[in-house]
Amino acid sequence: MTDQQETYDGDVTFTGHEDAPVALRDPADVFLRTDSVAGDLEVRNAEYVFAHQPTGDANPGDPETVVSGDIEDGYADPGGVTGDAVVADAEDVFVTAGTASGDFSAVAPENVYSDDVEPPRDPDDYDVSLTGWKQEGRASDPDAGVRVTGAHHEVTVEKARTDLDVYVVGHHHDIEITGRSAAVSVYLLGYDNTVTLGPYLNSEVVADTGLDNEVVEEPYPVEDLIETSKDEAFDRAGFGRRKVTYQVPAESDEWCPNCGEPADAVVARHQMEAFFVFGHPLKTYDKSTNPAKECEHCSRSAFDASLTERERKDVLK
Ligand SMILES: [Zn+2]
Repeated sequence: MTDQQETYDGDVTFTGHEDAPVALRDPADVFLRTDSVAGDLEVRNAEYVFAHQPTGDANPGDPETVVSGDIEDGYADPGGVTGDAVVADAEDVFVTAGTASGDFSAVAPENVYSDDVEPPRDPDDYDVSLTGWKQEGRASDPDAGVRVTGAHHEVTVEKARTDLDVYVVGHHHDIEITGRSAAVSVYLLGYDNTVTLGPYLNSEVVADTGLDNEVVEEPYPVEDLIETSKDEAFDRAGFGRRKVTYQVPAESDEWCPNCGEPADAVVARHQMEAFFVFGHPLKTYDKSTNPAKECEHCSRSAFDASLTERERKDVLK
């Protein structure tokens, strides 16, 4: 027996004010956030289901509230549905980790992408949290990370210095993180999302659930490992018999021959003793034949670069 029929145009968001159980009929996309359904969740006849909650045996009660009409997208905030929920005949349904406190089941979906993922953080913890369509977010010096729900969000985070979570739910999001010495855990749920990580960050893709998502890790710049280039060394040599040391990018190696790690950047450290005239070696006495190599993992230069200016001063104290 249904008590309430609510007819809507456009987007609907559940914020905890409707009597549960709630049924949402014939929406386009539906985005369900962590802790948004305080009961069972059943998704019926969706074209695509993307889920970070494992499927069980949902048994929702008869709806007290039916939301239908000319509905575009549906959202459920944390605490948005106070009991069971049914989503029927949607196009795409995104079920974030920890959406339903009860069981979740997907009945007769056309396509399902599903992984069992624990919610990494409380939804309120993130430095940037966007829900909806096509918004922009920015943060500097973040503490926790980024969470986006919906579609077409763009987020830029700078100066990451501590470990972060990036949780991407929906489609066509674009997230860019730069910083140093931080590990970024990436959670992807949906399709056509891109997360780009700067060269001094470590990343782990905890879940990539869906299709055509991409995590781009920018390579470590080899110039950072060069303390003295060949030109600089020769210029400084000036006039007379001198020993010089310089670094050049090594032939493209995927592995560092020094420490054995997979490496973006490998340099060779050359030594040379020569008679220089105005920065040109006229006569060479000695030259390293098997120059030492090092990479972003084992080079002292990389270690320095990973510190802030202030930390570098502290190290030198
Ligand atoms: Zn190395």
